Amino acid sequence: MSSPDDFFALLREAQQQLDAGFASLPSAPSVSLGDDAAAILQQVALRMHDNYPYGHPLYAGQMLKPPHPIARAAYALAMSVNPNNHALDGGRASSAMELEAVAELARMFGLPQYLGHLSSAGTFANLEALWVSGQIHPGRGIAASDQAHYTHSRISGVLELPFTEIASDDTGRMDLAALEGALKIGNIGTVVATLGTTAVGAVDPLPGIFELQKKYGFRIHADAAYGGYFTLANNLGEEARAAFDLVPMVDSIVIDPHKHGLQPYGCGAILFRDPSVGRFYKHGSPYTYFSSKDLHLGEISLECSRAGASAVALWATQRLLPYTRAGEFARNISTGREAALDFYRRISAEGRLIAPCVTPQLDIVFYAVRSSEGTPEASSALAKRVFDAAAERNLHLALATLPVRFFPANTFSRHADMHVTCLRSVMMKPDHLAWMNEIWQRLEGALTECTR
Ligand SMILES: *Cc1c(COP(=O)(O)O)cnc(C)c1O
Repeated sequence: MSSPDDFFALLREAQQQLDAGFASLPSAPSVSLGDDAAAILQQVALRMHDNYPYGHPLYAGQMLKPPHPIARAAYALAMSVNPNNHALDGGRASSAMELEAVAELARMFGLPQYLGHLSSAGTFANLEALWVSGQIHPGRGIAASDQAHYTHSRISGVLELPFTEIASDDTGRMDLAALEGALKIGNIGTVVATLGTTAVGAVDPLPGIFELQKKYGFRIHADAAYGGYFTLANNLGEEARAAFDLVPMVDSIVIDPHKHGLQPYGCGAILFRDPSVGRFYKHGSPYTYFSSKDLHLGEISLECSRAGASAVALWATQRLLPYTRAGEFARNISTGREAALDFYRRISAEGRLIAPCVTPQLDIVFYAVRSSEGTPEASSALAKRVFDAAAERNLHLALATLPVRFFPANTFSRHADMHVTCLRSVMMKPDHLAWMNEIWQRLEGALTECTR
């Protein structure tokens, strides 16, 4: 499946198999591509040059990973039917495949029972989780750390639920003392635990949050949009492992197969521990649900039309790369963390860079550039120059503005909420480990250019 020729040959064969299923129909005219199609597609190809090379191992920046060829092929195949997983009328096979794919996610997390479905992305999946929280605890608020995805405060605004921001500690994890302080004052109905923050990959201390739950009583929602698949890794630190091991106890969890799950965009997922939350989704649709009394996914989802092709792509990928701890999929997740640890060690030993207080918990590494002035401003300016100089060497990094308290105490002349722009790399492609020398050489080259 590695060369494009094989990819298109396999796809053509599978398409013929799919078409055979409808061969008994009288032939009907099909839409032709049109005379200009070739020229337009050439234009598309040229326009798409204006991107970073996301799929290449030298792209070590934002959270971007190419979909697996099997996902791309299955998606393309399903597109010839273009099923809609809103209702069984619009996508019977792909709805069945969605149920099976979501069951695999639940099995991976060890959920004993659940209600869940795919969504267009992590944002909508989180919206459903907080919406259900608001239904169960009307008027009670949402709490998430200052490192949680900004979507939680925004969603709380949409749902008109009060939102409380909880301070994070110097490692980016939710500070339990700050959480307890807020619980004492407030009317908090749900605590969002981020298992893998988007900026630095910090895993909130779920065991401690469960301890506080005994005392204060609240729902726990795990936002594992980015970090969820790390539950399969065999090389997590003790604290991250302990957090992931408690996932079967949370009230709801979000995971994005379009981040680490090798899927094209348009694939998030929400799972609830209590299947009876399905009652909140009840509605009376006059036109969608005619074909059967079986469950239509639109009855347990806030989104109506959804791409059935996303479910088909995820299902196919899971067949090729099952979510088992000993399998290739899990190995690749572990390799990402290994690459991040390797990169972190190199950064720690490089005098021109400043490593953060703690080793990467998942596969995100961030690092500041040491300036002669020693101020966050000078370091930020230098980081931006290194970012550009690296890009000129085809090494693509990302920039992130983070609190200076994430760095060792003597690094910057500090005051509490000062920030510094750092470089950041998400080592999420399995190839990143093998390419580490190449990545490092280019980074050193960029540093030399900017610091001489
Ligand atoms: C990416 C992410 C989201 C948002 O998900 P989208 O799929 O981008 O909509 C929410 N929370 C966390 C922790 C994320 O990493």
